[in-house]
Amino acid sequence: MGKPKLQIIVLFQNLGEKQAYYARSPAPPLSGALVAGLTPPTVEVELLHEMVRPIDYNTDADFIALSFMDFCAPHAFEVAERFRKIGKIVVAGGKYPSTFPKEVIPHMDSVVIGEAETVWGQVVEDMVKGKLKKVYEAPFAPPLDNIPPPRYDLVEPDFTVPVVTEATRGCPYKCSFCQLTIKSVPFRCRPIKDVIHDLTAISQLPFYKRKMAMLYDNNLGGNMGYAKELLKEIAKLKLWGLGTQFSFDCLHDDEFIDLLAKAHCGMAFIGLESLNEPSLLSVHKRHNRVQEYEELFEKLKKRGILTFTGLMLALDEDTPSYYHNLPVNLNKIDPSSILLSISIPIPGTPFHKKVESEGRIFDKDLSHYEGDHLVFTPKRVSPDDVFNAFHRINRIFYSWKNILKRWWRFISRYSGGENIMNLVFRSLFISYIFFQLSIFQRDHAQKKVYRSDANADLPC
Ligand code: SF4
Repeated sequence: MGKPKLQIIVLFQNLGEKQAYYARSPAPPLSGALVAGLTPPTVEVELLHEMVRPIDYNTDADFIALSFMDFCAPHAFEVAERFRKIGKIVVAGGKYPSTFPKEVIPHMDSVVIGEAETVWGQVVEDMVKGKLKKVYEAPFAPPLDNIPPPRYDLVEPDFTVPVVTEATRGCPYKCSFCQLTIKSVPFRCRPIKDVIHDLTAISQLPFYKRKMAMLYDNNLGGNMGYAKELLKEIAKLKLWGLGTQFSFDCLHDDEFIDLLAKAHCGMAFIGLESLNEPSLLSVHKRHNRVQEYEELFEKLKKRGILTFTGLMLALDEDTPSYYHNLPVNLNKIDPSSILLSISIPIPGTPFHKKVESEGRIFDKDLSHYEGDHLVFTPKRVSPDDVFNAFHRINRIFYSWKNILKRWWRFISRYSGGENIMNLVFRSLFISYIFFQLSIFQRDHAQKKVYRSDANADLPC
């Protein structure tokens, strides 16, 4: 008899949408491959990202593990119900089940609360023996030593960059909208040798997929000394491109930027959130200074590092004139790509507590908490202002004309490496990443943003 089979599903689709939305994301989320890597060999493992393919309810898997974010919770409950009806055992874990276990437990056979590393082996063992408990609670903020590498070999070929991992967890800051503020955990770093092990556990991948990697840290620069030592080691791997995430204030450190360039960082995700200083203060993002955006982004661009940035609308100090001027002001800062969203009062965050205490939440349907819906009454702008800005800024930023202009500005600024061959190769490679990112975000805007109805879901 063969081994029992576990299918890990990373949910992505939203309930209530007429059509599934398959994202053209270059890289998968980390959770699925990470849990697959933690799974003991007593079971066969499959991995399914709903971001790129639909759930197969005819699967021959015996056990289903669901990983999902808040906005997918209603969908997760429906998926679990369908699987349980046909006799599958369903386990859930991740941020939402860990934060709101009471909401999730009735829908699942078992729920993992907290970071899975220390308990997942036991969960699988109990599952196979038919002795699954209803709840497994991991210790709070365990050390991050000896985490096995994610199973990159199980990631769908649709993803250009399957090699994703993390070096740290947590963040020293406390932005009021951030999920990390729900249950504050200490900032922790993994041993550098473990991170390098992850980045080299790639023998089953095609050659070109081994040469790119993504670090999904909340804030790689949360411990600058650690980040620098890690980047020195990554530089030795001679990757073609590394993507990473860190807070804006890290850009004050020139040595950090130099080491990013030496590690062949090709893309940095930085949450600017707003170009309006009072809006930043309203969400306690004091380490971002609007007047520094242009100058500090320029440092990255000169080194051939694409700047991908998150921006939020409907913050409490946003005004109609801020939205009106945003495309022009964005053009001055010239990020390579933007992820524009309508701010989400994630349940449990200080931002949620504030808008809820002010009676401003009018939509409690969690499937709308994904950044394309407005679920609360904004303070100084109307819902129409928010939707109009959401549509207009995406349309302007992701027009082909502006994408091409940005690409040209970026490439002509890049001063390159030591020799002409290096300059040509890096320019071509960065252009490839630039267009992948731009097409991913343009596609998202076309399928989700332009479709959103400014008059839907709003209070009378
Ligand atoms: S800097 Fe980023 S990761 Fe850190 S608390 Fe703010 S939003 Fe969260």
